[in-house]
Amino acid sequence: MAFDTSFARRFVRPTGTLELMEDLGGARPGTIMLGGGNPARIPALEAVYARRLVEIAGDRTLFGRFAASYAAPGGDVGFRTTVAEVLVSRYGWPLTWRNVALTSGSQSAFFTLFNLLAGERDDGPRQRILLPLAPEYIGYADVGLSDGLLVSRPAEIEVLPEGFFKYRVQFDGLEAVPDVAALCVSRPTNPSGNVLDGDELSRLDAIARRRGVPLIVDAAYGLPFPGIQFTGDAPYWNDNVILCLSLSKLGLPATRTGIVIAAEPVIDAVTAFNATAALAPPATGPLIIEPLLASGELEALCRDVIRPYYEQRAHDAIAWLREACDGVPLRIHRPEGAFFLWLWFPGLPVTSRDLYARLKARGVLVLSGHHFFPGLAEPWAHRDECLRVNCSHEPDRVQAGIRLIAEEVRCAYRA
Ligand code: PLP
Repeated sequence: MAFDTSFARRFVRPTGTLELMEDLGGARPGTIMLGGGNPARIPALEAVYARRLVEIAGDRTLFGRFAASYAAPGGDVGFRTTVAEVLVSRYGWPLTWRNVALTSGSQSAFFTLFNLLAGERDDGPRQRILLPLAPEYIGYADVGLSDGLLVSRPAEIEVLPEGFFKYRVQFDGLEAVPDVAALCVSRPTNPSGNVLDGDELSRLDAIARRRGVPLIVDAAYGLPFPGIQFTGDAPYWNDNVILCLSLSKLGLPATRTGIVIAAEPVIDAVTAFNATAALAPPATGPLIIEPLLASGELEALCRDVIRPYYEQRAHDAIAWLREACDGVPLRIHRPEGAFFLWLWFPGLPVTSRDLYARLKARGVLVLSGHHFFPGLAEPWAHRDECLRVNCSHEPDRVQAGIRLIAEEVRCAYRA
């Protein structure tokens, strides 16, 4: 069958996201999976979700909301009300349920938001989403209905002691980037685990306000939940911010639940699009989470179970990397959140794409760093020198994968 519409040409093609998701779903048995962004299976957490499923199964009304009825196009109203109430009481943000919309995973929220805000216009040049700190999340790369939806700016690299480094926003010239419809950052950043501090965020917000455009903050890993953020920085919202959350990294990616918190006109637009594209988003994840969120149990799980789990995994993986890569010029982005380590091999003689392929042939899946520079037009050697490693799974598998990474990298530098 020929798919030859312009829509098909855009959306039926190989992309980094497709490669990543196929790797995730179709790996050979025995493969060491350090690639995709699947959260870890944490027994203490899954026991709580299993308890909720029993409660839902035993209650006809809850089961109706869970699986037997369509939610409103903006998502289950009871859950949206709980989200708003919890954020009002915890952070004092002036929200009601009308400031909250659900989507089928936050990935689909980015598809909707980016195309609602940016793209072709009847009355002027094409508008773009500005990513002020590349490297940035691979999933933003291909969501545009037309080419050129993204423009990004390379991060400044701050070299830190003990083999670490950290990305910083380059503010010089940021304000002068033309045709910008919104700024967008992930916080913590996927892939690097960087957390923009409050000062960087408020400067980005001020730039967005001066331009009359919103600041999108993607907190899929961050605060208020799942809270995989190791710095003390607080969550950030005001009526110019579109805060995107997800239930995926709480351990529920299959429930496909994204949460958008924004001014009412944004929520109304997402709701209208949901109705056309999907009728309504799923309510399964919201029904599992709602009472946990309302009672504070979720906040305690994030603080006492989820965050320490991922922090420990990062800590262990760094020790194994240092040992395995002794003598190799490895730098690691300071882990400030999320569950990846972002490795930089300065002057790497092969590209990160080659390294990915060599590792795949040896039974280790990682992600090549070159995917994580969406919208970056200028050449930058750095983009071919990095790998993203998900270090959150079984420790012995992660350690075995790290040894193979070290072997291949050593080989590449020697050749
Ligand atoms: N944002 C970031 C930074 C991510 O890493 C991901 C997934 O890995 C998403 C958004 C999308 O997550 P989901 O669609 O599962 O909510």
